[in-house]
Amino acid sequence: MPAQETPAIILTVRDYGEADRLVTFLTPARGRLSGIAKHARKSKKRFANCLEPLSRVILFLSDRARGDLEFLEKGEAVRSFPALRRDLARLGAGALLAELASEMASPPEATTGIFIALETALTLLEEGAPPDSLLPVFLLHLLKLGGYGLSLHHCRVCGKEPEPPLVVSLAKGGVLCGACSRGAPGPQVSLNPGAWKLLRLAQDLPPEKLGRLRFPPGQRGQSLGLLRLFIRHHLGRDLKAWAFWDKVAFPSKKENSGLGL
Ligand SMILES: [Zn+2]
Repeated sequence: MPAQETPAIILTVRDYGEADRLVTFLTPARGRLSGIAKHARKSKKRFANCLEPLSRVILFLSDRARGDLEFLEKGEAVRSFPALRRDLARLGAGALLAELASEMASPPEATTGIFIALETALTLLEEGAPPDSLLPVFLLHLLKLGGYGLSLHHCRVCGKEPEPPLVVSLAKGGVLCGACSRGAPGPQVSLNPGAWKLLRLAQDLPPEKLGRLRFPPGQRGQSLGLLRLFIRHHLGRDLKAWAFWDKVAFPSKKENSGLGL
């Protein structure tokens, strides 16, 4: 039987048994899948430069899938994003976006959009887009594709254009007027008007234009803080890649200036 060929972005790779690797990967048609790359540790030829997290590849899946586990026959590298890998902040942003894409890619109808969004984000990072602006924009976009869009246009209580001081209710999934926030369910996070406008714009733009948005420092910190809490609220835990991001994005004031932050 011919192998089934699929575009894929590698998410995680770990050793499995004596000679194999266990790989999770994102596909446009079926979302996140797991598979065994037989003898991948000994015979590197069938998976040359393919089994690195974040790599964009073509995978050939055998029809011998067992339950939820695919068999990977071979792989072909398409894009390995070398510039992204050389820069820790870009790598940190890529890892966070890949982890969120992996979490969001279970509803079948959104998987193609999620795959395209992650591939677009990795490509923009590779081409030099600033990771601290790209990260909030694409986190928001992936959440929306996964069915967890933040409602940013109208107050979730009164339905009108929200009046400052703005607040986001994580439980209500959107923005509230300061006056409407009293008595509304928590947890609530305050949101400055600049961050609110940028996040609203980010959610309305098509993915190919998202790389143009720039978040000034005040908006960036608040937007990332809000999205981190919103994701934690829905998943019941933090994304694991935040720990790496915290180390590499703002390691110290001295290094911050070196990164152009
Ligand atoms: Zn209101």
